[in-house]
Amino acid sequence: MKEKIMVVEDNPQNMRLFEMVLRVEDYTLLKATDGEEALDMAIREQPDLILMDISLPKMSGLDVTRKLREDPAFSDTPIIGITAYAMKGDREKVLGSGCDIYMSKPVNTLALPEMIAELLLRSKKKSRQS
Ligand code: MN
Repeated sequence: MKEKIMVVEDNPQNMRLFEMVLRVEDYTLLKATDGEEALDMAIREQPDLILMDISLPKMSGLDVTRKLREDPAFSDTPIIGITAYAMKGDREKVLGSGCDIYMSKPVNTLALPEMIAELLLRSKKKSRQS
C-alpha cells in the first residue's frame, strides 16, 4: 500500500524540491500551499505523514498542527515541522504545537527520506498495537 504524504509549503521552489526528494519513493503525494487548505485536505485525505512548513498564508503551520492534534484521528500522525530559518525558540515552539520532529531550512534532502520512512514505520507499529 502506498503511503500518503502531505506536503504543506507555500514556496513553489521548496515544494518542487520536496517533490523531487519524495518522488524517489513510491508515495502518494498531496500538496497544500496554505494553512486552511492544509487543514481541509488533511481531514479529507487522512495522510499517513505531514511535512509542514510553519510560515504559511492564512493559518500558520503551528495552528494547523494544533488543530489537527485536537482531533483523535490525528493523534498519532507523524508531523515534521519546518521553519525557514533556525531561530532561537523555534524548536520549542514547533514541538510544543504537536510536531514530532523539527527541521529548519535548508532541509537536509539526503536525510529526509530516511526520516520519513522511520516515522512511517513507527506510526504503523503504534497503530498495530492499539
Ligand atoms: Mn512558508
